[in-house]
Amino acid sequence: MDTTMFCFQCEQTAGCAGCMGAAGVCGKTAATAQVQDELTGALVGLALTVQAAKAAEGVKAAVCDEADNVTMEGLFATLTNVDFDDASLRALTARAHAERDRIAAALGVEAASDYDLALLWNAPEDVRSLKSLVLFGLRGVAAYAYHAAVLGYRDEAVSASLHQGLASLADNEAGADELLPLALRVGEVNLRCMELLDQANTETFGTPEPTQVARTIEPGPFIVVSGHDLLDLKLVLDQAAGRGVNVYTHGELLPAHAYPLFKQYPHLRGNLGTAWQNQREEFANLPAPILFTTNCLMPPAASYADRVFTTGPVAFPGMARIDANKDFGPVIESALELGGFAEPRAVAAEEGAWLTTGFGHGAILGSADAVVDAVKQGAISHFFLVGGCDGARPG
Ligand code: SF4
Repeated sequence: MDTTMFCFQCEQTAGCAGCMGAAGVCGKTAATAQVQDELTGALVGLALTVQAAKAAEGVKAAVCDEADNVTMEGLFATLTNVDFDDASLRALTARAHAERDRIAAALGVEAASDYDLALLWNAPEDVRSLKSLVLFGLRGVAAYAYHAAVLGYRDEAVSASLHQGLASLADNEAGADELLPLALRVGEVNLRCMELLDQANTETFGTPEPTQVARTIEPGPFIVVSGHDLLDLKLVLDQAAGRGVNVYTHGELLPAHAYPLFKQYPHLRGNLGTAWQNQREEFANLPAPILFTTNCLMPPAASYADRVFTTGPVAFPGMARIDANKDFGPVIESALELGGFAEPRAVAAEEGAWLTTGFGHGAILGSADAVVDAVKQGAISHFFLVGGCDGARPG
């Protein structure tokens, strides 16, 4: 086959079958795909070593947060539209190796070799499909676990499931009878992880309530914050306070406005942008910096590449980066330098000047009686469950 990469982990995948050739639909190159596979293989080696350490007991003494941290961060980095930077991916691989070796030395167990993901393709179709399902599910779990962890919320069962699931990829004996329940278990763990993140968010920022969000950019300097990281948004707002710089959420960060804590920031002015896949057009003429805290980052167009900042799990070669000390000063300085618009600017006017968000489970259950009455009276006949992110496919 004349291919240099294969990736089929997301809904964008070419032809609904797999991205092959020099680059994927998301812009990930074959070289970066290879580095991501190597990182995943290193995380499997770390997971096998953690499992061996647990079997040898003494895990509490020898396995510390770093094994969980690098596993969460490594899996998150390999999600779609997150980390395109080979250097940062290799740094994660080095951390996985270092932690594996440290645990192995501490407990006198063997340091497991990296797993070669290409070996998955030697397995029967059901087995490789189920292992892929487990891996992709774990990547999603890891993203939620990461968001909870940065707020100080962890669950040992979630971390253990990440290691257990990764270790299963290297189990040559595992058949569909073992892997199907494991895949379902990943789903259960993800539910627990969402519960943990909900607790982390609501205890930190308050319970979301229905809130109207402006879709107009006010005159003057501003920062656009993209991704899903509420803590990064708070830190940006804290550091921009009193600097004459407004802050707007982009796209899927819209729900931030519904948390009571964020209503305390008068310079959090609104939301701009539509679905993530429109960012290359929507960012082209913005006189403001754009901070990506998590996915979805598309390879930036030349028209705005010099105004993009990344932080946390997001990285792109050549883009300005805010490291773990979270000093957003360079983003604020960029906003002041670019100056923003001179006049109010409506964004996505076709959608109206306001959006409403904040219909979390707290708000919904608070209206349960009225909803039940409406059902009984026939005023509500259908419920629609809308899940997932802004998909790129029409319809
Ligand atoms: S992550 Fe990128 S390369 Fe992989 S399937 Fe999705 S679009 Fe294709």
